[in-house]
Amino acid sequence: MFFLIFGWGPRSKDLGSGGYHDCPRCHNHVMRRRVERTNWINLFFLPVLPTNRKTVLACPICAHEEEVT
Ligand SMILES: [Zn+2]
Repeated sequence: MFFLIFGWGPRSKDLGSGGYHDCPRCHNHVMRRRVERTNWINLFFLPVLPTNRKTVLACPICAHEEEVT
C-alpha cells in the first residue's frame, strides 16, 4: 500500500538590508529587510515545486510589507 503525502506552504529567505525608509504604517524611520517569499508544493514534507515567488520590503517593528517590483 502506498500513500502520497503532499501539501503546500510559504517559505521565507532573508536577502539583507533594504535601506532606511519611513514606514507608511507605523511612521518610524527604520531599516527594512528584503525578504523573498516563495510558496512551495511539498511532497513527503520536502519542497519540490515553487508556485509563487515575490520579494518584499518588511518593517521590523510592525511587520508591514511592500512588494518590490
Ligand atoms: Zn512599520
